[in-house]
Amino acid sequence: MISSIPKWVSNLFGNTMRPNVKVLETSYISPQIKRIRFQGDISKWSFQIGYASVVRVSETEFRNYTIANHNKEKGVFEIIFHIHGNGIGSKYIDTLQTNDELFISPPRGKKLYHPNVKQQFFFGDETSLGVAIALLPLLKKVQFQFYFELDETNKNVPRLLGLENYTLFPKTNLFRNEKWASNLPLLQTEEWNNADFALVGNVKSVQTFRKVLKNKIQGNINSQGYWLEGKRGL
Ligand SMILES: Cc1cc2nc3c(=O)[nH]c(=O)nc-3n(C[C@H](O)[C@H](O)[C@H](O)COP(=O)(O)OP(=O)(O)OC[C@H]3O[C@@H](n4cnc5c(N)ncnc54)[C@H](O)[C@@H]3O)c2cc1C
Repeated sequence: MISSIPKWVSNLFGNTMRPNVKVLETSYISPQIKRIRFQGDISKWSFQIGYASVVRVSETEFRNYTIANHNKEKGVFEIIFHIHGNGIGSKYIDTLQTNDELFISPPRGKKLYHPNVKQQFFFGDETSLGVAIALLPLLKKVQFQFYFELDETNKNVPRLLGLENYTLFPKTNLFRNEKWASNLPLLQTEEWNNADFALVGNVKSVQTFRKVLKNKIQGNINSQGYWLEGKRGL
């Protein structure tokens, strides 16, 4: 996925990527988690679980973010941003205030959810709270479980965002330890054997956990790394 474009391309196509949405409201759920409500013409946008929009975070840089909820009639939608402070996107989002205007693309990408699923498991981190929020209403009639690895400072965020059936883990590289992950209680019974698994968030956590699950369960595994240490703009 392209996260930056040369300046000449930006000059050439800049017009199609001019500001198309306005910030209606911003709030911090924790010092690192910022929720922003935007307004724009989203009447033709397609919203699928796993799809992401690119946000133009500078003249030449774009970053992927997930729309957590939307209302087509009112033309409003929300994104939950992880303000981690390490990148241009995070720093730009931190500055956004009511009435700011910016470019956000229609959502596109990889679907993470099959509508007829009977059991859904979801793994993610701070970057995945938005997709979890989008998924929650679709899971009300099935068995589901969220796992989040979060920094200590964000441990109240899932509750404050209204998420349910979640288990929290500290972000101490637990999911990068195959042996530890194989011993998770969830994998000691047959109960989740045929569930669908959606894994997103840190690339290394996703890769390791996926490897463990492949040896243990029969269900589908849909995964996508959202960020990787030292790598810009996945
Ligand atoms: C499909 C998809 C959907 C996504 N949805 C969301 C979303 O809804 N909300 C959201 O907050 N993010 C989301 N992300 C992740 C987001 O795009 C990345 O975190 C992105 O790297 C942020 O850009 P940046 O400019 O802040 O950092 P970059 O310039 O990309 O990276 C600079 C440095 O920051 C580090 N870094 C990047 N992200 C993190 C992080 N989360 N924690 C700690 N260090 C980090 C990198 O490793 C690198 O060293 C999504 C990614 C994808 C692919």
